[in-house]
Amino acid sequence: MSGDPPPLFEARDLVKHFRIRRSVVQAVNGVSLAIPRGRTLGLVGESGSGKSTVARLALRLLEPTSGELRFDGTDLRRASRTEMRALRRRMQIVFQDPFGSLNPRMRVLDAVGEPLAVHRLARGRARVDRVVELLERVGLSARDLHKYAHQFSGGQAQRIGIARALATDPDLIVCDEAVSALDVSVQAQVLNLLKRLQAELGLSYLFIAHDLNVVRYMSDEVCVMYLGEIVERGDGDALFADPRHPYTQMLVDAIPEFGRRERAVPEGETPSPSNPPPGCRFHTRCPQVAQDCRTEVPLVHRIAPDRTAACHLHDPRREVTLA
Ligand code: SF4
Repeated sequence: MSGDPPPLFEARDLVKHFRIRRSVVQAVNGVSLAIPRGRTLGLVGESGSGKSTVARLALRLLEPTSGELRFDGTDLRRASRTEMRALRRRMQIVFQDPFGSLNPRMRVLDAVGEPLAVHRLARGRARVDRVVELLERVGLSARDLHKYAHQFSGGQAQRIGIARALATDPDLIVCDEAVSALDVSVQAQVLNLLKRLQAELGLSYLFIAHDLNVVRYMSDEVCVMYLGEIVERGDGDALFADPRHPYTQMLVDAIPEFGRRERAVPEGETPSPSNPPPGCRFHTRCPQVAQDCRTEVPLVHRIAPDRTAACHLHDPRREVTLA
């Protein structure tokens, strides 16, 4: 809506193609998304859908092939090194594997305090105090300062990862499968911690996961990705209650408590992003495939005030010829 404040983060028509030997992997193909301040945008899809590449592009850990990235009004692709350095403080990431992302030779004090040193935010006693404050914020304590990563459980290690991400007082945190490696009960604790931190600190999240339940719990809005493209987006609860794109329906039907068994079940594997199918990229698996789907790329259609889907079935001008 025109009266809405500008989003904190915005990506427009983002493309990332990797050249690997003689083939081109189309990892991300025209993704647009926006994250309002203090809100959570969920990104869901099977492995290989391009979710994690979007995360890395958003933080400019990868350079896009084309497209626009804006953070708090700044064009990230045109930002100078100095501007980018200042902006990096405000955009952080929590990775899937808490142990893999923590240096096993570093004590917690050094792991959590490292961003404070890199960005010259605190040193000496002030750095120790700030690290203790961060540990307490995530449910740990000063007693953990001198321990190493291997002395913690997976959930505790992920809390350390979150404390590290919070060290620079960010506005945006990208959570890339941040709870996927944890047991279900521990997952719930970490998700609740992330929600509490959002309420306390006004954080915005780009929340990436393949688990629909987790994404639904965390997200205000959800984007569903398939083979490098967003195929459906909408309010989280509404989207999972009434999925409109055949791929979202497939994901939802795979969850026993949500799914509708009367719907036809798609078959097959996700095609390779180095050789995506022509037309609709989902057509090789779609139970509702029509002739047009094999040749025509579907446009994005608005199917409700806060819902879009990229599927010919939702094109009001089109008569779909069944295959
Ligand atoms: Fe299925 Fe066709 Fe819609 Fe693609 S465009 S999701 S193949 S019905």
